[in-house]
Amino acid sequence: PSLLLQSQRPSSALMTTTASRGSVAVTAAATSSAEALREGIAEFYNETSGLWEEIWGDHMHHGFYDPDSSVQLSDSGHREAQIRMIEESLRFAGVTEEEKKIKRVVDVGCGIGGSSRYIASKFGAECIGITLSPVQAKRANDLATAQSLSHKVSFQVADALDQPFEDGIFDLVWSMESGEHMPDKAKFVKELVRVTAPGGRIIIVTWCHRNLSQGEESLQPWEQNLLDRICKTFYLPAWCSTSDYVELLQSLSLQDIKCADWSENVAPFWPAVIRTALTWKGLVSLLRSGM
Ligand code: SAH
Repeated sequence: PSLLLQSQRPSSALMTTTASRGSVAVTAAATSSAEALREGIAEFYNETSGLWEEIWGDHMHHGFYDPDSSVQLSDSGHREAQIRMIEESLRFAGVTEEEKKIKRVVDVGCGIGGSSRYIASKFGAECIGITLSPVQAKRANDLATAQSLSHKVSFQVADALDQPFEDGIFDLVWSMESGEHMPDKAKFVKELVRVTAPGGRIIIVTWCHRNLSQGEESLQPWEQNLLDRICKTFYLPAWCSTSDYVELLQSLSLQDIKCADWSENVAPFWPAVIRTALTWKGLVSLLRSGM
């Protein structure tokens, strides 16, 4: 099963799919702009991950909420919503707790490893996480050691577009809110498919722009301007829509492609993030890390 979500606004999108067979070789030379983007992303996360962890803990992604929830949650409520995001993603993909097949997992764009440690504990699986940020990889490994999980999970610096893994070795390929950083979505998806074992599952939760209507060739200028500002802040290249992702997945012999739009489910997270930035602790941390 697989899923994806799209939206009219920046939002999380989720896709899962089952690999039906082998792999696709990827070759492409890095352009200098791709190199600059990689360096920018690494630096961004080197500098901000400590701040995020201090305020939000080890999950660097949206929480998942009931669409009409207007309750003011405590910080711990939002952290629970982040765990719920992982659970809802697994459930959408049909990956259940009894799943014995999930033995090896790759966490593509792993942050400080929150998902890997959670999934390793839940399934008893081995997880390898990759990130562009050396600070994140180190912190993720330190947290694994502190939680007595270092025999199960490990983290390294590597590029999602050129992964240091053999073909077809992972039962679960997990990309939680990292796809939006990838400058070449086709290469990204091909690389996810390449490392997936036959019958394995791919879950992509990512930010997408709305699907274009028939006859529309681009977003409206005001929409593009808004996205440009978000791109600058978060080191993101150009966005694509969920139907663009679905097309890519369909071209790669995958089965059970499923997608969904979770915009309404993630929306309550942003006011909470902004609120924490305005607390004393948030402001001090922001100043310490350089705005
Ligand atoms: N999945 C994590 C972190 C999300 S933040 C979580 O949910 O907690 C985005 C992550 O994507 C960062 O760790 C960043 O280093 C990683 N990333 C972005 N581009 C990448 C690339 N090309 N290769 C590997 N990791 C990448």
